[in-house]
Amino acid sequence: MRVRFAPSPTGALHVGGARAALYNWLLARGTDGGRFLLRIEDTDRERSTPENVEQILDALRWLGLDWDGEPDFQTRHEPRHREVLAQLLADGRAYHSRATAEDVKAYKAEHGADRGFRGADHPTRAADGEPDADGRRPAIRLVVPDGETVVRDLVRGDTTFRNVHMDDPVIARGDGSPLYNLAVAVDDLDAGITHVVRGEDHLSNTPKQLLVYAALGADPPLFAHLPLLHGPDGKKLSKRHGAASVQELREAGYLPDAVVNYLALLGWGDEDDETEIARDELVRRFDIGRVSKNPARFDEQKLKWLNGRYLRAQGVDGLAATIADHLRDAGHGDAIDGRDELLRTAVAISQEKIATVDDFWPLAGFLFAGPVDDEKARAKFLTSEAHRANLRAARDALAAVEPFTVEAVDARLRALVGELDAKAKDVFQPVRVALSGTTISPGVFESAAALGRDETLRRIDAALAD
Ligand code: GLU
Repeated sequence: MRVRFAPSPTGALHVGGARAALYNWLLARGTDGGRFLLRIEDTDRERSTPENVEQILDALRWLGLDWDGEPDFQTRHEPRHREVLAQLLADGRAYHSRATAEDVKAYKAEHGADRGFRGADHPTRAADGEPDADGRRPAIRLVVPDGETVVRDLVRGDTTFRNVHMDDPVIARGDGSPLYNLAVAVDDLDAGITHVVRGEDHLSNTPKQLLVYAALGADPPLFAHLPLLHGPDGKKLSKRHGAASVQELREAGYLPDAVVNYLALLGWGDEDDETEIARDELVRRFDIGRVSKNPARFDEQKLKWLNGRYLRAQGVDGLAATIADHLRDAGHGDAIDGRDELLRTAVAISQEKIATVDDFWPLAGFLFAGPVDDEKARAKFLTSEAHRANLRAARDALAAVEPFTVEAVDARLRALVGELDAKAKDVFQPVRVALSGTTISPGVFESAAALGRDETLRRIDAALAD
């Protein structure tokens, strides 16, 4: 088992590409002696920047998809590609051709639209690579032999193409530079790749690559073309659906293990209702033969849910450490440093309400940084005389609570609701807004206990003084 991930570094690593990388990685790591190689297909020299390469490597590292050996770069193999082209020409398996798209069209008009273009005996064939009177050099086309080309695909089963329908493919430009289908086949062959696992968007390239293998007298690898990813609305996945690249998922506060788990189950799974599978179990159980042919739906809401489960599975201490790292990266280091106990408590009382580490600060940041500024919440719960009277009563009640624990605060405030003959919400919400500035927070008793009596009273006094 020798597989590769072969991204073109023309932008960020999208979730579809990440899933292809993951399936290759799972195959290699799940097989004794399996190798997972990385080949950067940088032949588009303008768009393949070092920054894009680094971004992709970074995304793979973050996901924990380690590759074997050094990353390979396709442009480094150009001399080898040219050597193969020369050999194919010398063997009569390829020829120089000046045929244009119009020539191919005219050929089909004459021979039938379903006939592949054959240029070896056509007037557009050139004897050699020399330029014509206008200085234009001929391209190189591969001779398509009679017969059939069978794509053996572990996801889609065998597909047979009749060669008669295939045009002699162009495998090098007039300047002698190799084209994609030649380069990929030669590189996979030279690297000893046994399984090519990639997106279904490459399906139309595969028969051409198989013709290159055949022309070189080599056995082709097996293929697995992965179905496309759609958004929850069934349309092709795009930015519209939310985070679409690994970088964006990372910035949105997802955990790599949750992303790996979710991507693995997009299109693969033994049981329909299974949602949580740890990485080592994925490695053990992944079976490329069980990948579905149908498009899979990438639903960020489901990923969120799963991420929440992974967050809580870290336990309060683990989660507090993860969140502390994230908050320092996000510039909140000063607010949390030296307040480990408060952070631990804040995490403990927030964990059920957060799905990503990004959700923590908007929910619980007030515990560290003071009430947030939510004009609407204040107008609703801190302005009427009735609410202010309830808040004053709550202040006096809380001042006497001893010890200042969640249970004691809870019991005292609930009793107060009865004493005031008020609705619970008209007592609890003013307290909540006084403490947090807003209506969305961890539980109000938990928040008060986390802040401690002094700070709780101070915040209530400040709210009443406004
Ligand atoms: N470089 C191609 C891409 O990024 C992948 C080619 C392959 O996997 O064969 O789409």
